[in-house]
Amino acid sequence: MDSAFPIKNAFFDVSFSSAVEPIFITDPQGKLLAANPSFADKTEIDVAEAIGEVPTILKSSLMGEDFYQTLMRSLTRRGHWRGEAQFERSDGTLCREWLSISSSRNADGDITHFIGYMSQPLNEHYYDLLTKLPNRLLLQDRLDFMINHARRNNDLMALLLIDIDRFKYINEAFGYDTGDTLLKTIAERLHFCVRDVDVVFRSGDDEFAVVLEEIGNLEDAAKVAERILNTCSGAMQINEHTVQVSVCMGISIFPTDGDCKAELLQNAETAILRARELGYNTYQHYMPSMNTRALERLTLENDLRNALNRNEMIVFYQPQVEISSGKIIGAEALLRWKHPDLGMIQPSRFIPIAEDSGLIVPIGEWVLRTACMQAKKWHNAGMPVIISINLSAKQFNQKNIVAVVESALKNSNIPPSQVELEITETMSMKNPENTLKILEKLKKLGVKIAIDDFGTGYSSLSYLKRFPIDTLKIDRTFLIDIPENSRDTEIVKAIIAMARSLNQSVIAEGIEREPQAKYLLENGCSMMQGYLFSPPVPIQEFWKLLDEQKFRL
Ligand code: C2E
Ligand code: MG
Ligand code: MG
Repeated sequence: MDSAFPIKNAFFDVSFSSAVEPIFITDPQGKLLAANPSFADKTEIDVAEAIGEVPTILKSSLMGEDFYQTLMRSLTRRGHWRGEAQFERSDGTLCREWLSISSSRNADGDITHFIGYMSQPLNEHYYDLLTKLPNRLLLQDRLDFMINHARRNNDLMALLLIDIDRFKYINEAFGYDTGDTLLKTIAERLHFCVRDVDVVFRSGDDEFAVVLEEIGNLEDAAKVAERILNTCSGAMQINEHTVQVSVCMGISIFPTDGDCKAELLQNAETAILRARELGYNTYQHYMPSMNTRALERLTLENDLRNALNRNEMIVFYQPQVEISSGKIIGAEALLRWKHPDLGMIQPSRFIPIAEDSGLIVPIGEWVLRTACMQAKKWHNAGMPVIISINLSAKQFNQKNIVAVVESALKNSNIPPSQVELEITETMSMKNPENTLKILEKLKKLGVKIAIDDFGTGYSSLSYLKRFPIDTLKIDRTFLIDIPENSRDTEIVKAIIAMARSLNQSVIAEGIEREPQAKYLLENGCSMMQGYLFSPPVPIQEFWKLLDEQKFRL
């Protein structure tokens, strides 16, 4: 061992010399101070001759300048570097090694030397032939190592799994050559999205993995995820095809989402499934609540199947008032579910489940019949309150929707002009030609049509003109900050003006404060609905509101 090497200790000498792993020690400039026999065997370097020189493993032309700059930066800033290195042996053959280098400092904090070792030779079976990336086997192998390291240093670490959306379809549509090229392209682009020290793996057929070590916080992982989404999606020119590509991502964090390799992988997979559920081109963090949430959803869906025949569904009514007269002119029917164990459940929690499972169709029909019957009672009592009933997209697109509405009108014997059907702006514009056809048929029955949540979707003005609409309901989100927010007041004024020119009435939803109401009144919108007047209430209470009719500002 060279005398410049400061560690003098018999035990160290023996372990160093007899270690199976190739080990080398350099000075802060990378010049070789010492290396063990195993290193000599591996690299074919004559150690005695190479002392004082930078060894090929630290200056290989196969890796490029950037690689070594990053390596040095990591060594000086973080004290270590780990990754894959390729270099030529002195006989010209190629060597590819997993290399780990740490820096050692003296009491003043100056780097005195670097210690490097090569952990087990990397066989071809650790690599994916197509993309040349390390494969799932190596990911499994390295994860243990990285987790231990993170645990020792109290670091956060993120595992990102990246899945190409509809890869099977791309393969079938454009051929396997294109599929292969796409995989290579994604592999290259992923390298651009991560730091040089981060390793990208091909962890499955159309799945990649990135491990981000030593992240400062969760946002760091999210930033990389965003970058990946931006870089790996959109139209890509692959061979002679233009392919629309998007990816889904699941993220799990050590130690919060898992303390071991199996847990981290499992939870990142769960997060991918969740991202996929939310649509293409998204990412999700794993959340422990995910499994519980899936379970809760399943239970709720089961309970929902029986909710109607167990009489657990209740319709609440919220008054729609005309401020200029102070009178209740309408009521919106809003569904509530009185769950036997969970108590009163709001629509935001169960309507999406009802939509997905199709249960919204019978439930919606029940609301329609119940609300029409109720409105008939008001009518009989000499209070012609228009009943507003929400239709879900699923319901609206049922073939028999017109017949169902007709039957509810007949059964209750309510004058059709006393019934208003609400469809949301978003659903009306999904397939506007179809919407137009259905609306015209419904209109023939004599009912009124309202566009709900107006302003939240993207309306085509030409359709808005052609649809037989009676009422626009301005969405609550535009009204929350009026009159203080001048952007919102401009939008609201524009909606009011537009409705007037299209001969439609406007109603403002979610009014909670007097200044909001005053502003609307002054600007030509006199119909309002919101907590300022009354929340949705059970039918007995609604009767009381009807008796009082005291809604003035
Ligand atoms: P929506 O049709 O836009 O109903 C208005 C929502 O705003 C109601 O929520 C109502 O309680 C709430 N709201 C009213 N005034 C105020 C206010 O001043 N401030 C605030 N913050 N909120 C106010 P709800 O009852 O929770 O219903 C939510 C959504 O669920 C409804 O939005 C509607 O899309 C859906 N929904 C409710 N009942 C039915 C139904 O029978 N069928 C269908 N398809 N959907 C329904
Ligand atoms: Mg509504
Ligand atoms: Mg609404």
